[in-house]
Amino acid sequence: MTEQSQGPALDNLLTESRTFPPSDEFAAAANAGPDMYAAADADREAFWATQAERLHWDTKWDQVLDWSDAPFAKWFVGGKLNVAYNCVDRHVESGHGEQVAIHWEGEPGDTRTITYNDLLAEVSKTANALTELGLQAGDRVAIYMPMVPEAIFSMLACARLGLTHSVVFGGFSAEALRSRIEDASAKLVITTDGQYRRGKPAALKPAVDEAVAQTPTIEHVLVVKRTDTEVEWTEGRDIWWSDLVDRQSDKHTAEAFDSEHPLYILYTSGTTGKPKGILHTSGGYLTQASYTHFNVFDLKPDSDVYWCTADIGWVTGHSYIVYGPLSNRVTQVVYEGTPNTPHEGRHWEIVQKYGVSIYYTAPTLIRTFMKWGKDIPAKYDLSSLRVLGSVGEPINPEAWIWYRENIGANQTPVVDTWWQTETGAIMISPLPGVTSAKPGSAQQALPGVSAKVVDDQGKEVPHGGGGYLVLDKPWPSMLRGIWGDNDRYRETYWSRFADQGFYFAGDGAKYDADGDIWLLGRVDDVMNVSGHRISTTEVESALVSHPTVAEAAVVGATDPTTGQGIVAFVILRGDAVDGGADAVKALRDHVAKEIGPIAKPRQVMVVPELPKTRSGKIMRRLLRDVAENRSIGDVTTLADSSVMDLISQGLNKGG
Ligand code: ATP
Ligand code: MG
Repeated sequence: MTEQSQGPALDNLLTESRTFPPSDEFAAAANAGPDMYAAADADREAFWATQAERLHWDTKWDQVLDWSDAPFAKWFVGGKLNVAYNCVDRHVESGHGEQVAIHWEGEPGDTRTITYNDLLAEVSKTANALTELGLQAGDRVAIYMPMVPEAIFSMLACARLGLTHSVVFGGFSAEALRSRIEDASAKLVITTDGQYRRGKPAALKPAVDEAVAQTPTIEHVLVVKRTDTEVEWTEGRDIWWSDLVDRQSDKHTAEAFDSEHPLYILYTSGTTGKPKGILHTSGGYLTQASYTHFNVFDLKPDSDVYWCTADIGWVTGHSYIVYGPLSNRVTQVVYEGTPNTPHEGRHWEIVQKYGVSIYYTAPTLIRTFMKWGKDIPAKYDLSSLRVLGSVGEPINPEAWIWYRENIGANQTPVVDTWWQTETGAIMISPLPGVTSAKPGSAQQALPGVSAKVVDDQGKEVPHGGGGYLVLDKPWPSMLRGIWGDNDRYRETYWSRFADQGFYFAGDGAKYDADGDIWLLGRVDDVMNVSGHRISTTEVESALVSHPTVAEAAVVGATDPTTGQGIVAFVILRGDAVDGGADAVKALRDHVAKEIGPIAKPRQVMVVPELPKTRSGKIMRRLLRDVAENRSIGDVTTLADSSVMDLISQGLNKGG
């Protein structure tokens, strides 16, 4: 790609001047303090060693970091711990057994209240059951389940026994499950008979039967009854959870494992291509998950009620429902269903019911709430909320403001957290109580983490400049590789800036005049218009700042005169009228006014939906296929593939 060496790596177009300093009251009580940055800079390894002391270690490490075999890191070398013990037993032992760990809310409205005593009993029974099935430390277990408590018991039971789990999102197909079982040579699948989706039970086990028919490594299928759906049964292989787990002893002694013992494999969401099986290990991972959860969300274990709306099928569910929060003795809400079942106020009803104080979700959902309209959250008492978080995509400044105003009573800090499956835990984020927040910016690497924006040559760009986001120092929760494929690991993350030894995240970013970091989307998605390298995020944010627009996705399509032309797909807000020719012209002019004529879209399409991954990220590569009249690429991680037909039909009518 020769055009990459001309001009800046990424133009810097959109500016944002609103800032929101923390209140004195919040700052005074915050877990994080401004001095943490300097402390971490002075001695990074000592800083991480202090964070590792948050955990219980059976054997202390003798070296914080071994980077001699880079890019394969070892953290807390020689240390031994049990991850599940750290998330469950020690809270019971310290006298908090009666504290609620999980307020579980089923989609049909059934509920379960699980204390730390209950959690310990359930995890112990599950661990005893897996032992009875003959599983041994190092074996792999696939978990293919909806958001039921048994999914969390299963993950923790694996961690307890040193089994490596591979959670596969319950919305994925039999083929996705098959390929993930095969890749990891898993011996057991844990699943349910069915799952509730949008108010209706849907079978899940048939997909397992289909997958397992082709994966000879699987010895057993352990099935939780959730929907009472009729299922086929293979005697000897299939076992009901209620027959096996319920009769086990609720006592189990956790054994310590090496700090680098594999904890889980998890596949990336597939926005940029074939999903990668990311490997995470134990001590460093738990240290960073725990540290970030405590400081970024300002968790007060005795008074907060925390809710992360992710699915456990994604890394956010691993680090910010299971490992980070439980290691911090959280009380949290876990919700099984979709946000509009049975009505569009379901999340706010749950916040009101449990007095949720910390709420962590994705921009895609925030923009969906914008589309549904602010009258819906306004009907509920949301006054318990005190910290809001966002993850998964760049959050457009306008969506950030909407979130703070309509959900956070114009008061709460909003933390925009940048990280990846690969990073294991949050890397770049404001710290509530410390940082003056800027809508749309993840701002600064956390204390202990180092991130830079660099140009093609790997040289740091000046303030105001744009380029590639890299992580220039190893961090405790970093991936330890791609499962079974060391070459792909080096090639994917470490080859782009091999000379400098930087981890390349695949994302574009810029510094503003203060040196704060703004994420600008995937570098694969960057558009080149008449020699200007324009980020999708900036044009999308300009569109979302128009009062009629709820959500936007832009792509660069080949253009005979400009190289690429900007094609925008927009969803209008609930209260906006339909998008005729005038509306389209208004949107094109609005972008030109907000960020300059160079970014004016060639075409604006009003669409009912956008293609999103099952984790809610917009799949721009498919929109590029549409805009360039190609056949549509791999759609296996798409939430709803009929969306692509709707969009193509609209385009053919001439948008
Ligand atoms: P694949 O690597 O298979 O394409 P994926 O990158 O979508 O999948 P994840 O690891 O779930 O899978 O997503 C990480 C990516 O999400 C980041 O690289 C970044 O592009 C985006 N992201 C996450 N959080 C933020 C954020 N706060 N701001 C901007 N982008 C974010
Ligand atoms: Mg990725």
